[in-house]
Amino acid sequence: MNRDREGNKKIRIGIMGGTFDPIHYGHLVAAEAARVEFCLEKVVFMPVGRPPHKQQQNITEPEHRYHMTVLATSSNSGFEVSRLEIDKEGLTHTFDTIIDLKRIYGEGTDIYFITGADAVLELPTWHRVKELMALCKFIAVARPGFDDLHLEQKMAEISSKYNADIICIEIPLLAISSTDIRNRIKNGRPIKYLLPEAVEMYIKEKGLYREW
Ligand code: ATP
Ligand code: MG
Repeated sequence: MNRDREGNKKIRIGIMGGTFDPIHYGHLVAAEAARVEFCLEKVVFMPVGRPPHKQQQNITEPEHRYHMTVLATSSNSGFEVSRLEIDKEGLTHTFDTIIDLKRIYGEGTDIYFITGADAVLELPTWHRVKELMALCKFIAVARPGFDDLHLEQKMAEISSKYNADIICIEIPLLAISSTDIRNRIKNGRPIKYLLPEAVEMYIKEKGLYREW
């Protein structure tokens, strides 16, 4: 348990936001690395409802994405799944979610938002970005296939422009994406070892992504 300057208990919570369509080992490895490295009380997986940046895309029903996330995380007592965003009507913005989470866990809670390198570069386009940056810290993890030669420089620019706290951590790199998994299913190619077996079974049972 961390304490603030006055010696009060300070809770640290990690948030792993994503479409999770479907969830895979890339998400799980990133969340676990952040949990351990930052001594986070827990990591809350937050499947998005209707993400503003994926409005044009075909997205699987929230209930399926939620169930797959529960199945993937249930063996880790440091992981939790929230329905906060999927139960909201309309577009969901991280800014509103963080406000809600501060209400739930207490204003003094330190919130660490975990993102891949691709998502972190998009931060300037996020809703109420400046206020968001003041509300939480960001943990950025590298992601193969999204390497940007100028990543560090760009992150430093974002940090100074918005006075943001973005911390990079090293994780075992996994070149896995939900897009690739969906394409593999559609084309009858294997997805084994890219995501937890329980999620693979769920996808098969519900016939997801075959007609993507
Ligand atoms: P899609 O291909 O549908 O966009 P995705 O694999 O990118 O799916 P998302 O749900 O969009 O998964 O990602 C949620 C978060 O997890 C983002 O911050 C993203 O950068 C991060 N992430 C996804 N895959 C990886 C990976 N293999 N390694 C590290 N971070 C990842
Ligand atoms: Mg993505």
